Amino acid sequence: MPFHSFSFLMTQSPYLHIVKVAIPIPVNHLFDYLLTDNSLTVQPGARVLVPFGRNKKIGFVVNSANHEVKPNFGLKSIIKVLDHPALISHDDFQFLSWASRYYHYPLGEVFATAFPVALRKGKTVQYSQTKYYQLSDRGKCLNPQQLKRSPKQKQLFELFMTEKQALSTQYLNQYDKNWRSAANALVHKQLLTIVYDLPSPPVNTEPPLSANNQQQQAINQLIQQLNHFSVTLLAGITGSGKTEVYMQVIQQVLEGGKQVIVLLPEITLTPQLEARFRRRFSVQLSLSHSRLTESQRHTAWMSMQQGHSAILLGTRSALFTPLQKPGLIILDEEHDSSFKQQQGFRFSARDLAIMRGKFLDIPVILGSATPSLESLHNVEKRRYQLLTLSERAGQASQPEFLLLDIRNQSLMNGLSKPLIKRIQQTLAKKEQVLLFLNRRGYAPVLICHSCSWVARCLHCETSLVIHYDDNILRCHHCGHQQSLLHCCPDCQATSLDSLGIGTEKVEKGLHQLFPNHSVCRLDRDSTKTKGSLEENLRQINQGEIDIILGTQMLAKGHHFPQVTLVALLDVDSGLFSIDFHAIEKLAQLIIQVAGRSGRAEKSGQVILQTRQPHHPLLTILLKEDYLSFAKNALAERQQAQLPPFSFQALIRVYAKTEDSSVLFLQQVGGLIQQLSFDNLQVLGPVPAPMAKRAGYYHFQLLLQHSQRRSLQALLDQLVPQLYAIKLTQKIRWSIDIDPIDLY
Ligand code: ADP
Ligand code: ZN
Ligand code: ZN
Repeated sequence: MPFHSFSFLMTQSPYLHIVKVAIPIPVNHLFDYLLTDNSLTVQPGARVLVPFGRNKKIGFVVNSANHEVKPNFGLKSIIKVLDHPALISHDDFQFLSWASRYYHYPLGEVFATAFPVALRKGKTVQYSQTKYYQLSDRGKCLNPQQLKRSPKQKQLFELFMTEKQALSTQYLNQYDKNWRSAANALVHKQLLTIVYDLPSPPVNTEPPLSANNQQQQAINQLIQQLNHFSVTLLAGITGSGKTEVYMQVIQQVLEGGKQVIVLLPEITLTPQLEARFRRRFSVQLSLSHSRLTESQRHTAWMSMQQGHSAILLGTRSALFTPLQKPGLIILDEEHDSSFKQQQGFRFSARDLAIMRGKFLDIPVILGSATPSLESLHNVEKRRYQLLTLSERAGQASQPEFLLLDIRNQSLMNGLSKPLIKRIQQTLAKKEQVLLFLNRRGYAPVLICHSCSWVARCLHCETSLVIHYDDNILRCHHCGHQQSLLHCCPDCQATSLDSLGIGTEKVEKGLHQLFPNHSVCRLDRDSTKTKGSLEENLRQINQGEIDIILGTQMLAKGHHFPQVTLVALLDVDSGLFSIDFHAIEKLAQLIIQVAGRSGRAEKSGQVILQTRQPHHPLLTILLKEDYLSFAKNALAERQQAQLPPFSFQALIRVYAKTEDSSVLFLQQVGGLIQQLSFDNLQVLGPVPAPMAKRAGYYHFQLLLQHSQRRSLQALLDQLVPQLYAIKLTQKIRWSIDIDPIDLY
């Protein structure tokens, strides 16, 4: 049938076409615009350029509808529709809308988070690949007569039925230069889909390892479930070969022509891991993390969107990357708190990964050596399937733990005598030592011996940390710094002293104690220059370093096979914290740090210096294992009705004055009272654990309920009212759903 006989003459429409647009600004409503160009259709999720105030903004289409002509209320028109079709699928549109509702965060801002910066700013997308249209599964079953009221669509639809194959844009252009609006309408009705060149079938470059029994069981189980949504928690001790399991499952997904997203904490996304994936898979692999440029991230996003790339390795925001052929989402180190975004759109990439898996109907794998209590609770509730790897792959054995009671012991720069002795013994055997202390700088406090004056930050409620190396005092909260003082500004005494220990101080102590051994300090200060971390890691692996000392940075990702002694210098700060999450984080940290050692045939020893050697949970962790610890910790949470046995939302506010912060939260409290929800616990307003930070006063109000649904219902009513609160002073407020720290 002659396709070119299409007539695209538009009769004057008796309707106004009104489009609801989400604009990335902090408001909780959508904006109406007119779509005046009748030849265009808009799809949910498509970007549009719209006039906004005196400016223009990029917004995202939420829906559109014809309204009978009424006097036009001065609605402005969309300037330009940037995407037809939308760059995200309908499932992802639904997913993002869900996320906006769940986190009570403006839809426009949620969409903006899902797009790379250039696209947020309105850059037009360049498709380098050939684009095809083809009948969708739904389209294949449709009788064309059902389209008889839209003759142009019917005609185009019939062309696809006759051709029985995907048709490229070039092909369609030859028939009629105006085919696009009919095609877009059919896409909108989900009768046609768009495809690009799909990933070519994988060719193995390096064969998979032969899996051990536990690995094989996990792989088989996971492969059986590849076609639908499911959540699996892969709990495997460090070095048990989780990555190998992921890779063998990914292999299957690729063979089915589908794509995979692998999310990792920033710090574990190392070049070594990337190299491991590249050696194994010959398909295109993309990366998305904060060390890349915006343009690199944009390219990765488009490569996945168009299906050029089959694997995406990335950090939390990579979760939103659109997929041409979604197959699998993996989240490694699922317990890691960096999966929770702590400002702006405060989403949990772990929780959203599961929701996205649900919307896309694909499996989600969560992996960890130290699973979060939430995930273990979900296993107990049979929401997740649990697969365990309890042995180290290869030959390595498990380390042995020792609690070292340091009450009444004099410490030399943070090290007790028994620990120093162990270090000596290890060094004598020519083996490596790893010391962990999660505090940078020389010491956290500078104090005057004569008058007890303490160097404090001018902007925060905290003391300044001494950094001898740079000869400064620095605030670790706002970055304020000043030169190091050598006499007291209050009493002019020169007897200034340091309190507490930081890595710099331990390093100096180690040089004195072990002058003939090499020490390498790894923290954010010592690895500031680009490439220095890599160089340090190389020296460590070559055995040029005897003692490794570091912070957080050491706890993740890196493997130090020649280390046989690991010591955590201070575990007590985790035991004394007021935040109920602290003990879980400490247990995870201990196991993760311990997992860095003894990879090879040599078994390792892990020493914990503590003033609470009989702490019950700590004892269970070391005598039994992490899973027993978790079971007990969960029982404590249940008894106290804390999450995951209840649900929390934290309303935070900050302002230049204390009064305006408190006043706002009191108003919020009043609104909550009016809503009178049963069984709702309201704690606060109270000052945040560190109330004054960078010159602002932080206060908070914690809401807790035993039912997630009830808490959400309350917030549905409350949040719109928060936007409406009139304030005399400028304040900033935010809502954190499922907060992971109360700080
Ligand atoms: P995890 O991700 O659980 O920490 P990895 O997958 O990194 O563990 O595996 C740890 C080490 O064991 C790696 O060097 C890996 O190559 C090796 N390994 C994993 N599975 C096997 C196996 N089935 N046979 C031999 N070596 C293995
Ligand atoms: Zn003094
Ligand atoms: Zn400060």
